[in-house]
Amino acid sequence: MVYEILLRRYMLDTLAGDGFAFIHGDVRALQIRADGHGRRVAGVSLKTANGALRLDAEIVVDASGRNTRAPRWLAAAGIGPPALEEHPCGIFYTSRFYRLKDGAEYPLLDGRTSLAGGVAGIDLGYLKAGIFRSDNRTFSITLAADPEDAPLRIVAKEREFDLATRAIDAARDWVEESTPISKVYLYGNLTNSRRRYLRDGRPLLANFFAIGDAHIHTNPIAGRGCALGWTSALELAEALDAESGPAQRAREFDARVERLVVPWYEHQVKRDADALAINKALQRGENPYDFNRPDGSIDEAIRRRVIFRKGLRYATRQSVDVLRLLFRQVNLLDPPGMGEERPDLARLVLEGYQKTAEEDDAPRPGREEFLQAVQAP
Ligand SMILES: Cc1cc2nc3c(=O)[nH]c(=O)nc-3n(C[C@H](O)[C@H](O)[C@H](O)COP(=O)(O)OP(=O)(O)OC[C@H]3O[C@@H](n4cnc5c(N)ncnc54)[C@H](O)[C@@H]3O)c2cc1C
Repeated sequence: MVYEILLRRYMLDTLAGDGFAFIHGDVRALQIRADGHGRRVAGVSLKTANGALRLDAEIVVDASGRNTRAPRWLAAAGIGPPALEEHPCGIFYTSRFYRLKDGAEYPLLDGRTSLAGGVAGIDLGYLKAGIFRSDNRTFSITLAADPEDAPLRIVAKEREFDLATRAIDAARDWVEESTPISKVYLYGNLTNSRRRYLRDGRPLLANFFAIGDAHIHTNPIAGRGCALGWTSALELAEALDAESGPAQRAREFDARVERLVVPWYEHQVKRDADALAINKALQRGENPYDFNRPDGSIDEAIRRRVIFRKGLRYATRQSVDVLRLLFRQVNLLDPPGMGEERPDLARLVLEGYQKTAEEDDAPRPGREEFLQAVQAP
């Protein structure tokens, strides 16, 4: 968990010392025992620096992230596997960290001065870029592109990453004013994924729960993984408090996740499918925003995409309510989407589209220009 250090500090500061223990080790298997109602988890087996260790436990929570080995542990006991649903994020993800040169100041971020934690996102359709302002004169830049877009894959190399960041207006000043302090990190094989540990209303293994990415993983570019991880952890704690039987607890937890986490997962699956469709059209040299078909008819799905894209940009500039809604959604305070209960905001988006429909807001640089820049000798 990204916030592990905070979690540890919180436990050390607030819990009685004999109430918990930190054990460093690699979980290798689940302990499972049979009782009158089926099978239930009884602990884990670990490999530690001091050798093998068996930990007995009434409840086991898998928080081991998106590459969890729990399905294998269950399979070893002849259980499962948990049903796995996967949808491509449509990106590989590269990041590099930088420090400002002596005497340099942080450049403007999205046209404004920034604080640590500030983020600017740039969506070129064929490439997404993010500038993440940190503290101590450091920051990072992320580039993400379609793993199937062969010419774009070179941005994961250091020289081409550098050329790519300099080709993007919003990032250029940042790289020119700084020195890299890391290699280019590459993360691939990214999917929105969901594992189901409840089958026909019964847990696959009683008292075994998965939270965070081990349960539901969403595209890292959306930046909601940590908040969703915390949500699932807190909801599990509530479910354990609210119910006492293993099956009831599993159902209660599942219902809570269904209400608070799954809508974000499904939202991301749809957004990624749309982003990928735009990206593929650009790779084919087509205009992903042209909703006029050759036969004169209208492609309604593409028209909705254009209305939303242009209209939302206008609406966020015009209305603090829209901006507030977006911020609330980023922080999971409101459910995804623009609710039907706010027809005024939907009207503003439509009005924004009507006012800006003729504006050329094609992201720059275009794909060809960008490729020339990164392929420069
Ligand atoms: C490139 C990238 C960028 C991201 N950017 C953001 C962002 O900006 N904002 C955001 O909110 N989210 C972001 N995320 C997502 C976020 O990192 C995850 O959603 C979050 O870390 C999930 O937390 P977790 O505790 O479920 O799993 P993890 O953070 O993956 O933690 C799992 C832990 O379990 C350990 N572990 C694994 N297997 C075992 C085992 N068998 N035994 C013992 N320990 C084990 C691992 O070593 C790890 O420490 C990003 C993800 C990626 C890949």
